[in-house]
Amino acid sequence: MRGAEVTGPVIYTYRAAEAGLFVNSYLVEGESGVVVVDTSLLVSDIEALRARLAALKKPLLGVLVTHAHPDHFNGVLGLVRDTEVPVYAAASVGRVIEEIAQPKREQWAPTYGAEWPAETYYPNSLLADHAQVRLGELTFTVRELGPAESHADSYFLMSAGGSRPVAFTGDLAFHGTHPYTADGHLPQWLAALDVVAGELADVGTLYPGHGDPATPGVLAAQRRYLLYYREMVRRLSGGEPRLSPAAAAELDTAMRAFLPGAPLTWMIGLGADAVAGELAGAAAISQG
Ligand SMILES: [Zn+2]
Repeated sequence: MRGAEVTGPVIYTYRAAEAGLFVNSYLVEGESGVVVVDTSLLVSDIEALRARLAALKKPLLGVLVTHAHPDHFNGVLGLVRDTEVPVYAAASVGRVIEEIAQPKREQWAPTYGAEWPAETYYPNSLLADHAQVRLGELTFTVRELGPAESHADSYFLMSAGGSRPVAFTGDLAFHGTHPYTADGHLPQWLAALDVVAGELADVGTLYPGHGDPATPGVLAAQRRYLLYYREMVRRLSGGEPRLSPAAAAELDTAMRAFLPGAPLTWMIGLGADAVAGELAGAAAISQG
């Protein structure tokens, strides 16, 4: 017989299919209940996530939202519609969700139809940077990072008993997929990656918003991708705030070669003009 064994919580992943951007939602099963981190995009995935939660047969203790993009916050209502539980987000993340949920619905509901949830449930428990939340034996510490991949990003560090902490890092680093760059905060995102890489250097596992669990090295890999992407856009845009169709095609080829076989390739072109605009704006300011 072994002595007192330390068993940590169990972390399950619900991953959407390509239509749902392969976004991960995490179900953290503790002794007394379940905490869900991020909540998927489309109604069919949100219902599947609800079923996954129900199958664990433990109460939902709370929901955590890492950042202000619909593939992470759209499913909150689906999870809390039967039982009101705290929905936590960094204060800036909660504020930006309140600002963008309706414009995002107007933008995307025509494309997704009934798959886009008709209502948004906003985070009801906003957290200051470094605030801690205790749910059962699980302790989550939020780090509020400001604009990075979205207009407001954060990550949650989770510790439980004596087990090594892990982090839920949202979209600070996509793991093995092309990233979303269309919100146009690349300098801030790169700076946030530097900060977070230092803070999470000793964390065992990072659970990203897209892709498999990773080591902290995924943060440096995202940094390299963004630096290369920005440099390619700089060269191909020639100082203009948008890329020509030929330049966009060249960018697409270059980034596919940078990350061979990676999915979400349509995101390469999606963010190109946002980054070109950012570079053109920065150049105008430095000359002016
Ligand atoms: Zn995402």
